Amino acid sequence: MKFDPAIALQNSMNLSPYDGVNPSISDSATFAFSKADVMTDTFEGKTEGCFLYSRHWNPTNHVLANALAAMEGTEAGWVTSSGMAAITSSILQICNSGDHIVTAMTTYGGTYAFFQNYLPKFNIGVSFVNITDLEAVEKAIQSNTKLIYTETVTNPLLQISDIPALATIAKKHRLKLMVDNTFSPMIFTPCRLGADIVVYSLTKFINGKNDCVAGAICSTEEFINSLIDVNNGTAMLLGPVLDPIKAAGIHKNLFTLHIRLEKHSKNAMFLAGKFLENGLKVIYPGLENHPGHNLMKKLMNVQFGFGGMIALDFNTTDKVGELMVAMQEKGVGYLAVSLGYFKTLFCHSGSSTSSEVPEDIQKEMGMSKGLIRYSVGLDPDIELTWNKIETCLRDLDLI
Ligand SMILES: *Cc1c(COP(=O)(O)O)cnc(C)c1O
Repeated sequence: MKFDPAIALQNSMNLSPYDGVNPSISDSATFAFSKADVMTDTFEGKTEGCFLYSRHWNPTNHVLANALAAMEGTEAGWVTSSGMAAITSSILQICNSGDHIVTAMTTYGGTYAFFQNYLPKFNIGVSFVNITDLEAVEKAIQSNTKLIYTETVTNPLLQISDIPALATIAKKHRLKLMVDNTFSPMIFTPCRLGADIVVYSLTKFINGKNDCVAGAICSTEEFINSLIDVNNGTAMLLGPVLDPIKAAGIHKNLFTLHIRLEKHSKNAMFLAGKFLENGLKVIYPGLENHPGHNLMKKLMNVQFGFGGMIALDFNTTDKVGELMVAMQEKGVGYLAVSLGYFKTLFCHSGSSTSSEVPEDIQKEMGMSKGLIRYSVGLDPDIELTWNKIETCLRDLDLI
């Protein structure tokens, strides 16, 4: 039977007698030992199920990390204080000074800035490529390359990464393949497709409530243990830990993710169809005209749909600001960055979530100045929402 992340997650619930149905929150920074030698052994990583200090492991964070690992079909996971913490800790664990990374050109703005502006401090080189051009990916690999980095569904252009093909290239050159799956949890299971490490911003679809910032890393036990090694683990030493109280909240929200995703996807598919019918330039991987549509169909877990993200390209910035304000006033959703919320969010990528990317690079990526990114919400009647958007578009002569 094909791996189903929602079923794997559901099966991962384990309850010991007399427990609450939600795991108790362990709001302790440190943990007491009844025997001194057990503490010594725990420091040396020799004890199973013992907790030392919450920068290393906390029981509540452990529950969330295990649930995420179950959903990804990986041996282990670790949760972080933000998506950027998950990304940067994992990269700094793999790469040393003098190493090199091949990355997708279209990534989240923060990730792009980390590659472009921050890693040079450590003499780590980065080549930016069009990740859908597998020849270009392989050509960019150097003798000191350690890592291929991509997003399953890239931000904001919604290109689809061919994870199995990238994994083949990575294996051939003995590199690690790291994938940011923030836009498409459950829809894609990157490590089952050949990726070595999957990273998340839990802030988005997985938590889905916009009430906290958090991240996660799922991979082999070996990699996760290396990250939290007390002597040289990047996560242990830089210390981007998640607050266990927030971890408990995210854990509860995780178990409704599959239902939310189906609705996000259904609503987005409906709106994408309407945009297309009205002659707008719409980018949505669920549409047959999307260059990654067939690849996505081949690699995805179909039951969760094509995701909640749509890009709408108006070419120029002329009326984009007015349109977004009009949509907010009509109650379509909020003019705000971020995604995966129950209300629709929209923003102008060039001046917000991708503003770290220089204009000439935005152009090279194929990102026009007039690109609006929608994170479609859980609207109970998406036709009503469409009617509001249609009115705004007509009022501004955009359709
Ligand atoms: C938001 C986001 C991040 C960063 O996550 P934070 O939780 O804000 O640190 C990374 N990658 C993608 C694709 C994102 O959308």
